[in-house]
Amino acid sequence: MKVTGYRIHEWGGPLRWESFDIPAPTAGEVLIRVEACGIGLTVLNCIRGDLANDTASLPRVPGHEIVGRIEAIGDDVAGPTIGQRVMAYFYLVCGRCPACTAGQDSLCANLAGWVGVHRDGGYAPFTILPAGNAIPLPDSIPAAQATAIPDAIATPLHVCKTRARIQQGDRVAVIAAGGGVGIHMVEMAAHFGARVAGLEASEAKFDAIRTAGGTAVLSRSFDAVDLRPAWDGEPPTVVIDLLGSRDSVTWALQVLPLGGRLVLLTTFRDVEAILSPRDMVLREVTILGSRYATKAELRESAALVASGKIHPVVSAVVGPEGIEEVHGALRNGTLVGRGAVDWNV
Ligand SMILES: [Zn+2]
Repeated sequence: MKVTGYRIHEWGGPLRWESFDIPAPTAGEVLIRVEACGIGLTVLNCIRGDLANDTASLPRVPGHEIVGRIEAIGDDVAGPTIGQRVMAYFYLVCGRCPACTAGQDSLCANLAGWVGVHRDGGYAPFTILPAGNAIPLPDSIPAAQATAIPDAIATPLHVCKTRARIQQGDRVAVIAAGGGVGIHMVEMAAHFGARVAGLEASEAKFDAIRTAGGTAVLSRSFDAVDLRPAWDGEPPTVVIDLLGSRDSVTWALQVLPLGGRLVLLTTFRDVEAILSPRDMVLREVTILGSRYATKAELRESAALVASGKIHPVVSAVVGPEGIEEVHGALRNGTLVGRGAVDWNV
């Protein structure tokens, strides 16, 4: 079938609006009619080639936060079924290794890459995915809102539930709290019972942080961060770093008290920070990497949204002609939460 959508022809190159063929789904694949696709910094990182930059993967349709309906299925697909509503699992996992069979999907030993990098994504009105990457999604959630679920909400669920194990009484500082993952991290940590401080360099995002359930704290310079309004002078028990700079990591390691936990989520190359083993031991600080989310956590995230416990923050919903404008807002740091392209607009 012929479709018209956006593709890149070089890593770091421009989006090209063009017509191209999508073949019928082969064995184990499904064809998805895309309702909407999330627009966030991770998509820009993918387009830049930060995750992978193999020229054999070009041209490529970007966009991994896909929400849509199954239009056709190939042979040997046990599920989902035609007409079913689904969201995309970001990682291309094998489904057979010990991690996959244990339900730790994002730790797959045979990772084949990412949707929107090694396979076409949702910046086009149709896309083909492995059936295992199409996760059932309730019909009740509006498409643009639902695009936040498979990454921007599932990633915070993985952090709060599986990695940092946030509990009632925790004081959680989220660095870069106004972004797509950050704003949902504030919501999720609050949902898990924590009192949350949302650190953000842009005061224009403070209202959204407060609405998400956090105390907004200015972090334009980490030397000047003042956490007193958040917890009456108490330090955070957990710092979740979505900025991933040398300054942010250094600040986090300094501010954490005895038994504190630091969660790292960024994958920028060439960032290093200094840590003192003596200091880590004497304060028994835990440093945790957190890698995406499991398929079960995607389903749980959808249930949290469907039941109204987590509210997606998707502040810019555009038709395909508006994608570049949202990319610009992301680069300028002015977008609150996530953006989305709605193919039915
Ligand atoms: Zn696997």
